[in-house]
Amino acid sequence: MHYLDHAATTAVLPEAAALACRVMTEQFGNPSSVHKMGIEASGILETARRRTAALLGCTPAEITFTSCGTEATNTAIAGACRRRGRGRHIITTAIEHAATLNTVRRMEQEGFAVTYLEPDSSGHISAEQLRAAVRPDTVLLTCMLANNEVGTLLPVKEFGKILRKKAPEALFHIDAVQGLARIPIRPKQWNADLISVSGHKIGAPKGIGALYIRKGVHIAPLIVGGGQERGMRSGTEALPNIAAFGEACRLRGEQMEENYAAVEALCAYLEEGLAERFPWAVVNGAPDIPHVRNVSFPGCKSEVLLRVLEMHEVYVSSGSACARGHASHVLAAMKLDPARLDSALRISLAPSNTKADIDALLDALEEGTRRLRGTP
Ligand code: PLP
Repeated sequence: MHYLDHAATTAVLPEAAALACRVMTEQFGNPSSVHKMGIEASGILETARRRTAALLGCTPAEITFTSCGTEATNTAIAGACRRRGRGRHIITTAIEHAATLNTVRRMEQEGFAVTYLEPDSSGHISAEQLRAAVRPDTVLLTCMLANNEVGTLLPVKEFGKILRKKAPEALFHIDAVQGLARIPIRPKQWNADLISVSGHKIGAPKGIGALYIRKGVHIAPLIVGGGQERGMRSGTEALPNIAAFGEACRLRGEQMEENYAAVEALCAYLEEGLAERFPWAVVNGAPDIPHVRNVSFPGCKSEVLLRVLEMHEVYVSSGSACARGHASHVLAAMKLDPARLDSALRISLAPSNTKADIDALLDALEEGTRRLRGTP
């Protein structure tokens, strides 16, 4: 099996799985209980919070655990917009994940005006575009750190500076789901107020995320109840997932540099192979991180190519895994021509991949594209 779809999700790290299992079967107390098992559970919770905070470059008190990246983003956007007596203008980008786009659309239905910053054909958005969009009544800028479909980075440091200067009351939310454990997260340097992350992209199980809320920022919770997570996210804490997330943050944080270098080397190997064997294929956009490559094979419909690769146990994605069957809104916003839109594959790498995975992908692509293009 050759899994090259790590931007969709990735395997749980064995250490994280072992810890989750122990928390499920042995240390299964409720962190709110005042007896010994509750206190032990509360200790596990706070250890995970410390480890997560370390990877996010913040204090443990600034971390709220959520059920996923999507919930963290919903909480951040709705919470920032619904602060009383503020303006009614949101800025986001046309290349956000559905978690952001659909929450922003909900805010639009509540009467907020939204500016969508458009990418250029390389998949980038400039600081100048943001500067022109900020208004005195802007309440929120919400954008991603790394794009999940084309691997471009947004200039969050410049964005943060501009927002602070031109709309000091506005909040800055960053969806860092695809950046976590790949590049350093710097909330202070970026002037970020809110940052969403997700566990299942970095080796924790699915169903765990976190929201960084800068000290001093007050937003209303999305879910109310027993007041867990300092009132920001009620519901008995998903301790096995939280512990596993903390462990994944610790391990992936320790290995960030070497993992980055390993993925970079694999990506270079992939790009060489593509250029040599498929000189007619095109890499979409100008990616900044080596973890994601979006490549079009004109003349080969991505869905069909995907099936051929699957027969060889090679797993990649067509566009974003969250946008099944729909043309990618990211590639469409980059104004790529239909032939490229229809034939795009997203290949996303992790440090666990090997050159053998890339070779298997290239061989399967050769067979698939030869068949689909009708060449001998
Ligand atoms: N944001 C980005 C950029 C993503 O890639 C994803 C997942 O694909 C999410 C948010 C949603 O995260 P989760 O699956 O934890 O809800």
